[in-house]
Amino acid sequence: MRYLRMRLVLGLCVCCALRTGVPCAVPCVGAERVLKSGIDRSTFETAVKPGDNFFLYVNGNWIKTHPIPPEYSRWGAFPKLRDDNLLALREILDDLTKETKPLDADRRKLRDFYATAMDEARLEAAGASPLAGALGAIAKIKGQGHEELIAELARLHLAGTSALFGVAVEQDEKQSSRYAAYLMQGGLGLPERDYYLGNTKDSQRIRGLYREHVAKMLRLLGDSPQAAAQGADVVLGIETRLAEASRTPVQLRDREAQYNKKTLHKLALLTPHFNWDVYLRTMDAGGLSDVVVGQPEFFQRVDQMVETVPLDDWRTYLRWHLVHSLAAYLNRPFEEENFRFYSGVLRGVKQMQPRWKRAVTTIDLQMGEALGRLYVEKHFTPAAKERMDELVKNLIAAYRERIESRDWMGPETKKQALIKLSTVLPKIGYPDKWRDYSGLEITGDSYAQNVMRAEAFEARYRLSKLGKPVDRTEWHMTPPTVNAYYNPTMNEIVFPAGILQPPFFDPTADDAVNYGGIGAVIGHEITHGFDDQGSRSDAEGNLKNWWTSQDRARFTAKTDKIVKEYDACVAVDGLHVNGRLTLGENIADLGGVTIAYAAYQKSLEGRPAPVIDGFSGAQRFFIGFAQVWRGSIRDADQRLRLRTDPHSPMQFRATVPLTNVDAFYAAFDVKPGDAMYRRPEDRVQVW
Ligand SMILES: [Zn+2]
Repeated sequence: MRYLRMRLVLGLCVCCALRTGVPCAVPCVGAERVLKSGIDRSTFETAVKPGDNFFLYVNGNWIKTHPIPPEYSRWGAFPKLRDDNLLALREILDDLTKETKPLDADRRKLRDFYATAMDEARLEAAGASPLAGALGAIAKIKGQGHEELIAELARLHLAGTSALFGVAVEQDEKQSSRYAAYLMQGGLGLPERDYYLGNTKDSQRIRGLYREHVAKMLRLLGDSPQAAAQGADVVLGIETRLAEASRTPVQLRDREAQYNKKTLHKLALLTPHFNWDVYLRTMDAGGLSDVVVGQPEFFQRVDQMVETVPLDDWRTYLRWHLVHSLAAYLNRPFEEENFRFYSGVLRGVKQMQPRWKRAVTTIDLQMGEALGRLYVEKHFTPAAKERMDELVKNLIAAYRERIESRDWMGPETKKQALIKLSTVLPKIGYPDKWRDYSGLEITGDSYAQNVMRAEAFEARYRLSKLGKPVDRTEWHMTPPTVNAYYNPTMNEIVFPAGILQPPFFDPTADDAVNYGGIGAVIGHEITHGFDDQGSRSDAEGNLKNWWTSQDRARFTAKTDKIVKEYDACVAVDGLHVNGRLTLGENIADLGGVTIAYAAYQKSLEGRPAPVIDGFSGAQRFFIGFAQVWRGSIRDADQRLRLRTDPHSPMQFRATVPLTNVDAFYAAFDVKPGDAMYRRPEDRVQVW
């Protein structure tokens, strides 16, 4: 319904709706056009002073009246919109199911995929049988030179299993005009290394429950209780050794440190027992001359383990990872046990989502551009794209002025920063060129087999890019996704159609709230090009220094202060935010709100902003910013995210950046003594 309204408004009053600069002073001819504020006061907690906790002031009542649904680990603007989008996708799939006319190939595949996902009787009857082929192949692995083990590992990687390590094909980070194969640490069933190695109560407790979970899954595959318990010990043993050689989430943020390009000859010297020739040939990637090894010390560990871990143990480990990666597509006992541990224990979710939501999520993941194409036909208009184009243009113009006026940056670095800004490529709504799914086989007989074929199709598609020119039209999110991204190697900012809806983007609302919402998101993504890691790529997307050493030192002194600001935030159980893990996102949040505010001011062209619903323009801007972060999260999920998520908790994303923005103090009369007050000399401004 929301989409219809958007279309209607843009249709009625294109002249104004397309202008992002100023709300119409004069109603358009023939239309009663009064822009609303885009603010709903019923979400406010008016007992809280804005200067004490702006997040609660704007969102407190919404949070009180919107408890987290039992099937979610968090609830708020992002998950709620995502939930709405699932419904929109379901309608599309249901319509395909009802269609009596012959369907084109993509629609037929979507319909059949969805049917296998929804057919509970068939899933129950099949049990674990869709895994029979792969389980049989694992059982047959023999020892000669580890070749069969390595070939089977490659086949499992093609089917989407993340055993032992990860492999990817992306642009070469130091030669962005070509693709490179990346080898990355992996192979763990728990979210990061410290769950295996840490001695906190939380780590120990989850480790114990993980062992039980692995044993239960092996029992579901038919192992005796005793064999399953032993199998779980084997899995824990192997994964603990991998964890010991793994880098921490903070270490993994250092892009330069993860870039270790090696010829295949050098790779063979690093890992003499691992037959890469067999691995790459099995993957049809035989012609490679070099690879980027993310974490060489991890691959040395893999190499030692290939040589020393008994083959029987490898068979157990691979069986576990196979069932782990596909449990969600098997029958009820597998699904429920998988849910119980990964959603229940790790994230505190109370109840499994209804089958249709899980099915739609899978299809969005596996055939996202076929489904997304139908989604945008129905729910996204060229007019919305045009208004976003305009907003992005205004944000970039404001960014240019900000870079030019930064006093901490010298002219040489500024010049390079401006070149980089001028080549940022915006992508809005959906891809210009859609994925071709003609090579993907989807049948009506097995959900898990469809998933495995889709995974293999995707893996082979990625591998086929090696040696070809870089495709600049490609997207890494599907159109209905409620999110956005910056890709440093492409120097691009990408906004899927899914996020271009209220409360992020509301074409029926005045500009202030839109600049505070989607404007700050646009500013956030641009700032990723200039955060502590993104700033290490140049305008062409190559990891290459373009900073003078003084400017880099001044930048780091500023960002070190941001680390401290977030290190001081306590999220749950006395646990602090990790300011180093979240640094890139925090720089982007601060840059996003700062630049969006500058762009909003610029859009007023010196005229006073109207007062709407009793709020000034500046007030509506900051309320628009805070309301996209409304929401709450279960404690278990918060604990997990503090360890793994490079984004800060929602309440701090809404407040900490504002404590550094002078205009916020003026807009809400924030004074010494207010909880959010920071002395002017302590406020940080980077961009
Ligand atoms: Zn970000």
